[in-house]
Amino acid sequence: MRVVVVGHGMVGSRVAEELVTADPTAEVTVLGKEPVPAYNRVLLSSVVAGSKDPSLLSVAGPAHPRLRVLTGVGAVDVDRTARVVHDDAGETHPYDALVLATGSAARVPAIQGVALDTGLVPGVFVLKDMADATGIVEATRSARRAVVLGAGVLGIEVATGLAARGLAVRVVHLGERLMERQLGWEASQVAVASLERMGITTHVGSSVVGVTTRRGRLDGVRFGDGLEAAADLFVMCTGTVPDTMLARRAGLTCDRGVVVEDDLRSPDDPAVFAVGDCAQPPGGATGLVAQGWEQARRVVLRLARADAVDPAASTTDVVRVKASGMSMVSMGLSGDFDRDDPRHRVLSLKDPERGRFVEVVVSGGMLVGATCLGDAEVGATLSALYTRSMPVPEDPALLMVRALSGGGPGVVSRAPADLEDGDRVCTCNSVTAGTIRAALADGCRTAADVSARTRASTGCGDCRTTVEALVAHAADGHQQDIEHDPDLVRSES
Ligand SMILES: Cc1cc2nc3c(=O)[nH]c(=O)nc-3n(C[C@H](O)[C@H](O)[C@H](O)COP(=O)(O)OP(=O)(O)OC[C@H]3O[C@@H](n4cnc5c(N)ncnc54)[C@H](O)[C@@H]3O)c2cc1C
Repeated sequence: MRVVVVGHGMVGSRVAEELVTADPTAEVTVLGKEPVPAYNRVLLSSVVAGSKDPSLLSVAGPAHPRLRVLTGVGAVDVDRTARVVHDDAGETHPYDALVLATGSAARVPAIQGVALDTGLVPGVFVLKDMADATGIVEATRSARRAVVLGAGVLGIEVATGLAARGLAVRVVHLGERLMERQLGWEASQVAVASLERMGITTHVGSSVVGVTTRRGRLDGVRFGDGLEAAADLFVMCTGTVPDTMLARRAGLTCDRGVVVEDDLRSPDDPAVFAVGDCAQPPGGATGLVAQGWEQARRVVLRLARADAVDPAASTTDVVRVKASGMSMVSMGLSGDFDRDDPRHRVLSLKDPERGRFVEVVVSGGMLVGATCLGDAEVGATLSALYTRSMPVPEDPALLMVRALSGGGPGVVSRAPADLEDGDRVCTCNSVTAGTIRAALADGCRTAADVSARTRASTGCGDCRTTVEALVAHAADGHQQDIEHDPDLVRSES
């Protein structure tokens, strides 16, 4: 079976690598437009902040005799009648199945003067790929004042990252509060105060309508109200749009993304699938990597076993902001929802002086939503409780503060021994504690071994400390087994 995958990003690379392992007849060709093999795109804002080195982001697997990866080669056309893909190097690639994994593109708003025929004005950036991230880092070497447009998750990550590099940063956001999908009014006010303490000025309900240049380089931005601010770096974080260009040209039905059925197949052509950020499945796309990797798993299963029927598994909606110097996590009911709904009990704690805000939403004895700013420990406990669907304590207020002993609210243990086998540890890859224990029982000794075997912590990396704790716990158990084994004696030599 000849399979062509278009896009060597986080999801396309996963499809290709898993398919050659799952199906011994699969011959897979991947076309990747970027000049570098697949890497962990989720961590690009950490590259901007200087907390991750670009060289450590690769997610491309080892070479395989039935896997051909063409780096720096774009697909330009698909002939669905002849079942071939044409690339920009003039080569054609015949297929029995085609998987589109073209991802998404950064949305560039219509701002006067921002773009030239050759691309964005020097000093103006989006953050979508490695070239953008390294370009921004390079620009920070001579820049002093940055403006970030958009205070969604990515905008906040970029703004705090640039502030961590010592730049004076302004965040401009059209909405009336920051991160409105994740934060309610009060949480947003606390976030504004925390950002200001970090030297970041926020302009909410505002927009950038134009940029000014000097000798061909950005030197300022113009706001909607006519005011101007000097800037030598302008980063637009205003969302993404699924990349449907190739699919549209091939005559496939596209709406916001490439329209696919439940089994990720195009309704127009049984030989064509779409996965990841470019796809629009019936339940909608989240734009999060966990959904793309779950789709990759199902497409591989379907291609390797034509009769396989595997419904979509739920993926998490916990959103963590990788912001330098500021912890933020939200899940379930958060942002805009009816706080007066009698079915929900909503409790909150607001402590702007310490940059702390915690809101928990309880229904039927379970946590159905939470927002936590400024307390990583409480945030981690809330996400553990939410993802493990554990009952909340009789007094949910206990969830909002750390116990005096410092061990969390005292009701939800995150100790490795207390994780049930079915508890999800890595939400990006849907890896449970049981899978990690099985890998440890099967010879994995380090967190790196476990990641290589199970893929745990290869996404956003938030679960790394839990994986390390499970490894350490297993090592302790192993040591105790040795110490208590009457048949083992220590050599004196
Ligand atoms: C800065 C940043 C931070 C993020 N943070 C998070 C996060 O914290 N959590 C989270 O879950 N998600 C996050 N995301 C989203 C996550 O990265 C995506 O969901 C994920 O990368 C989707 O994978 P994909 O393979 O569908 O698309 P991509 O990883 O975007 O890969 C698509 C690839 O296809 C290539 N391509 C496109 N057209 C062609 C063509 N015609 N021929 C050949 N190649 C082509 C592109 O160049 C690209 O390399 C973040 C994204 C960004 C940019």
